[in-house]
Amino acid sequence: MVDRRIYMDWNATAPLLEEAREAFLRVALMEGNPSSVHREGRAVRAEIEAARRAIAWAVNAKPAHVTFTSGATEAANLALTPDFRMGRAALPIGRLYVSAVEHKAFFEGGRFTAAQMSVYPVGSDGVVDLTALEAMLAGHDKAAGLPLVALMLANNETGVIQPVREAAALVHAHGGILVVDAVQAFGRLPIDIEALDTDFLVVSSHKIGGPKGAGALISRGETLMPVPLIRGGGQAKGHRSGTENAAAIAGFGAAAEIAASGVEARAAAIAILRDSMEAEMLAIVPETVIHGRWSERLPNTTFFSVEGLKSETGQIAFDLEGVALSAGSACSSGKVGESHVLKGMGLDPRMGALRISIGPSTTETDMERTIAAFRRITGRIAKAHAA
Ligand code: PLP
Repeated sequence: MVDRRIYMDWNATAPLLEEAREAFLRVALMEGNPSSVHREGRAVRAEIEAARRAIAWAVNAKPAHVTFTSGATEAANLALTPDFRMGRAALPIGRLYVSAVEHKAFFEGGRFTAAQMSVYPVGSDGVVDLTALEAMLAGHDKAAGLPLVALMLANNETGVIQPVREAAALVHAHGGILVVDAVQAFGRLPIDIEALDTDFLVVSSHKIGGPKGAGALISRGETLMPVPLIRGGGQAKGHRSGTENAAAIAGFGAAAEIAASGVEARAAAIAILRDSMEAEMLAIVPETVIHGRWSERLPNTTFFSVEGLKSETGQIAFDLEGVALSAGSACSSGKVGESHVLKGMGLDPRMGALRISIGPSTTETDMERTIAAFRRITGRIAKAHAA
């Protein structure tokens, strides 16, 4: 029986930071509605505005361009719509292009129908095929409206980093709009909306140590915006009605400040732990396949397959060893489905794959115990094969 748990599933959600917890509790106890003009309301509004400034600063955007949502999934559903506006004028979008490895929040296409969507391919290295995207954009029929392209900055399963800046140049050359899913990259890579040259960024609080239930759509400017998804009282300048989740937003702001400070040093320290763990895994089972290994990857992610180790049984085996890891993206039912990311990379989606994802508070002991669990689990498989 293992008493101390080892949390190796930071890409599913990161542990709540102390600073985020404090901000969350402080604001949760405040009385006012942020839209009220009285002192109580203004005090909550001030907390939201401070968080807005922190998040904007973290990605080099303007505070006025941050629209808070309930999370990245809602931000994706806000951004992925055939109905945009340029100021007051309607700006129709003819087709949505999503990569084969986008997170389901984007892959499902938001407010587009399946007939209005195209999927652009990814190589076996996990990197999007920009030549294929360019060919698709060259053939885009502008009669129905502009092209809208969704691309993630880093993949949640493999950690592979995508060439967003090159994609932005391409999309803009074809008169299109780019929405970048920066959920997994936030806090792990420096993010600058200007340098990335994207029209929109999507971020999520709980992936960076903030509370669950807050996220944001961040725009480059103020004139180009999607038609709102949630209508009502006109909060957030009409872009997202409803009383803001002020406590979660305050926690998000506190986490964003930490996420964007000292990113490079933190990433380098995490990469050392991850790389030495991968070297150990390969020493134990040389045939271990580390997906996206030869591509530029997030420093914290290892998505691997070992022959004979199924996703479901592998997760349970590690869980019994006290190690919490996952089979890729955490879907709502908790069941392990086929990985559309592996499928997008041209691999057998039923191939068992497991994801280890770590964070700033992961220790060397955590890594050693995970490697020891890997040694025992794969040893049992080898024994069963030999029998
Ligand atoms: N995009 C990526 C890359 C993710 O990993 C996730 C969460 O798993 C999401 C979007 C959705 O984020 P949220 O949980 O805030 O809706």
